[in-house]
Amino acid sequence: MQYISTRGSAQALGFEGATLAGLASDGGLYVPESWPQFSRADIAALAGLSYAETAVRVLAPFVGDALSEEELRDLCEAAYGRFSHKAVTPLVQLDERNWLLELFHGPTLAFKDVALQLLGLLFERFLSGKDRHLTVVGATSGDTGSAAIDALAGREKVDIFMLHPKGRVSEVQRRQMTTVLAPNVHNIAIEGNFDDAQRLVKAMFGDAQFADRFTLSAVNSINWARLAAQIVYYFYSAVRLGAPDRAIAFSVPTGNFGDVFAGYAAAQMGLPVARLIVATNVNDILHRAMVAGDYSVGELTPTPAPSMDIQVSSNFERLLFDLYDRDGDILSSVMSSFETSRALKLDDRAHSRIGKLFSSARIDNDAMSMAMRHAASEMGEIIDPHTAIGLSAAISADLAPDIPIVTLATAHPAKFRDAVERATGQRPALPARISGLFEREERYDTLPGELQAIEAYIAERATET
Ligand SMILES: *Cc1c(COP(=O)(O)O)cnc(C)c1O
Repeated sequence: MQYISTRGSAQALGFEGATLAGLASDGGLYVPESWPQFSRADIAALAGLSYAETAVRVLAPFVGDALSEEELRDLCEAAYGRFSHKAVTPLVQLDERNWLLELFHGPTLAFKDVALQLLGLLFERFLSGKDRHLTVVGATSGDTGSAAIDALAGREKVDIFMLHPKGRVSEVQRRQMTTVLAPNVHNIAIEGNFDDAQRLVKAMFGDAQFADRFTLSAVNSINWARLAAQIVYYFYSAVRLGAPDRAIAFSVPTGNFGDVFAGYAAAQMGLPVARLIVATNVNDILHRAMVAGDYSVGELTPTPAPSMDIQVSSNFERLLFDLYDRDGDILSSVMSSFETSRALKLDDRAHSRIGKLFSSARIDNDAMSMAMRHAASEMGEIIDPHTAIGLSAAISADLAPDIPIVTLATAHPAKFRDAVERATGQRPALPARISGLFEREERYDTLPGELQAIEAYIAERATET
């Protein structure tokens, strides 16, 4: 399998190259040159398989000859063996038609573990035996940082530098990052907010000399292998609910459009997906794009669902690529005009194509709290604010009543205890796997929000290549 850039001019890469690359050299994102196809019989054959085995079947066409099936199986078993639930991503029935797909049983209690646990192992595998070393640099508002650090701690040939805005992540989130004391993990608290941290990381990638000297790499959801890993649980859950004989709808709490794009990929591969519901909070650029074709950047409003407080959804470019018939030249000009004007108007054809599979909902803070209360009192489930946005969108969706709706539960409620307690009056207990968090030693350095200072810090600690 080859991977091509959405902007048409970067060199095509195999799975290994696309996994290690992050952004393509023309500024685009890597996508598979075509979607692998699963027949009804292929899908039916997934029934009863373990999560790891489902992952092997779904990922094999994407991996191609970059790994043998045996190697892929070893990595999937190792990655998903670290989840605390035997089903890895269990389904919970809420009422006659609504289901939760719990994606938060990984080491850091957020759905990002599902992809990052595998990505950490893929990095190590692809770098082993080569004269190559990666320096992963990222900015986090909380969840991505802890999941990436857990996945990469102690791995050979990789250093990770994670920037978080000082004093602006929750104590649980900070401690999940700063109590990991492996020598290849470097936590930096930046004086400034999350946007400042993200701008610094972008500037660092833009400093070609520095990026090249330390082989900078990214672990955010622009990474193709991360998205591929997320396709697996759409197949896994749909098969348990009757696919291929029955179509399933999914409601997805959405920020960067990575998770829901994986659902789109599953549908392109042949999984019967009745609808993908894009659930946003009041930061609703995607909802406006879906409803009115208006993809224009607004003001960022902080909410109790911070992992969805996003203005520009990087992975939307991957959908646009398909909507514009995979024409890299057109997409390159569409995206460069978006980058200057911060606005994009979808043409009628692209907009009507979106509506065939996707719908959307904008869920404000009141509706989010109401969904948390409804889940607690009517369904007996305590859910986190992000999941509540998905559930609220599922309950209000306009779909035939016989279609099951799976809401993706993206974070454990204990990660957002204050918001959950405010809405429901119940304070979720910390699960055993992070209960020692408040006694552990922390390690991090505080730096000013200046590129030079951060580059100097990294240069002292990273491996030159
Ligand atoms: C990252 C995240 C999301 C959003 O996922 P995207 O792939 O960015 O759309 C939703 N909920 C939680 C808890 C997350 O950590």
